[in-house]
Amino acid sequence: MNNDLAFQRCIAPSCGATFGTSEILNACPTCGSLLDVDYDWNRAPVPPTLRGFETKWSTRRNPLHFSGVWRFKELLNFAPDNCVATIGEGQTLLRSEPGVADYVGTSNVHLQYEGLNPTGSFKDNGMSAGFTHARMVGARKMACASTGNTSSSMAAYAAAAPAVNGQKCEAVVFVGSGRIAMGKLSQGLDYGAKTLQVMGRFDDAMQRVKEASKARGIYLLNSVNPFRLEGQKTIMLRVLEALDWQIPDWIVVPGGNLGNTSAFGKAFFELKKLGLIDRIPRIAVINAAGANTLNRLYNDVGVRWNGGNYDAAKINAFYAAMDAAHHEANTVASAIEINRPVNLIKALRALEWTNGVVTDANDQEIMDAKAVIGRGGIGCEPASAASVAGLKKLVANGTIGKDETVVCIITGHQLKAAQATVGYHSLFGEELAKEFGDFNVTKNPFANPPVQVANDLDAILKALA
Ligand SMILES: *Cc1c(COP(=O)(O)O)cnc(C)c1O
Ligand SMILES: [Zn+2]
Repeated sequence: MNNDLAFQRCIAPSCGATFGTSEILNACPTCGSLLDVDYDWNRAPVPPTLRGFETKWSTRRNPLHFSGVWRFKELLNFAPDNCVATIGEGQTLLRSEPGVADYVGTSNVHLQYEGLNPTGSFKDNGMSAGFTHARMVGARKMACASTGNTSSSMAAYAAAAPAVNGQKCEAVVFVGSGRIAMGKLSQGLDYGAKTLQVMGRFDDAMQRVKEASKARGIYLLNSVNPFRLEGQKTIMLRVLEALDWQIPDWIVVPGGNLGNTSAFGKAFFELKKLGLIDRIPRIAVINAAGANTLNRLYNDVGVRWNGGNYDAAKINAFYAAMDAAHHEANTVASAIEINRPVNLIKALRALEWTNGVVTDANDQEIMDAKAVIGRGGIGCEPASAASVAGLKKLVANGTIGKDETVVCIITGHQLKAAQATVGYHSLFGEELAKEFGDFNVTKNPFANPPVQVANDLDAILKALA
């Protein structure tokens, strides 16, 4: 047993090996399972109530109190203050959305807008924590594979980080060729990251970045990194804070690599254990129908965490069949276009802890939901809208009650993928289908097309009539 306040622990109950926070690990060296960051809560000074965290609002000039991640530091207490990497992440907003509530057929829906983060997605919450660990261990080179937002975020933290031994931090990002949205690609380039466009998809880039970072001793910042998930826990703390510490009935979240799902489950599990909340909200994870590994494993194959005794043979057989069929993930929601979610096992655990559910939404449902969210003045990228599209289905089939309080996580900003938005609103018929290429988006009932008008006042006044 490790004696530090914070340590790493293998999630497999049959193993449970622990390691210090100074070790750089992407999996348990003993059994290969994922790792958690865990704490000796008996020695950790946690405020007696969650409301106690509000006092930090009055000392916002301290960057650790300004950060929406680090003002909850007592709940992710693994780093000395001087290692903390913050670029002002987590200044996000929870807004009640009657328009979305109408659309999904329920009365009480809130959107947690994580698009407001410095690089425009929730990834900054986790990157701030993961990058902090990288600084603790003195890493100077960091890498990740990404559908886009992880790379944007990592590149920004690397660019802003202080030099290590007089040398600037170097970010290397692996992206699948041609699948990354322009807004995201542009950020990595702007922030000076070395960008490798691997000829393949996300799952290929993920495999390669693991190999390359091992070969070169580069610090890996994918969400297999357990420290990243500690930062993502704070999204739930901000949701509770915005609800005046009331517990919602449901958290609805898009599922890609399942880092958020895993982190949210861990957050609630810990808060309950610490006596800081008295009940745990249920989590609904929404896959894209074209990348629905979790949905199929959970609902069709029936795999469960089962106290850690999950049926690994069934999961392996599922992946083997997927490979044999050369099945590739394919969805307009590129941020969740993932066949092999790296945090699958932790997500199963989170589903057990939160009595969660899983479903999927197709590309048409996702794009329609995105337009409805936009109409309320919150712009998001397609993957984010999977939450609302999935919520609509779960209300329709009675899983989510009409007067339950629901929070949908809006994971990324609209400007990340402006082309999808413009295409949906301005193209019709065959042109629309062509713009969305492989994706099955053929209708746009919520389109708000631009109006072409001559450069002439009369014509303009006529168009305004
Ligand atoms: C990364 C990402 C997701 C998927 O989150 P996971 O934690 O990997 O499940 C969803 N939406 C956006 C915008 C993302 O960038
Ligand atoms: Zn282990």
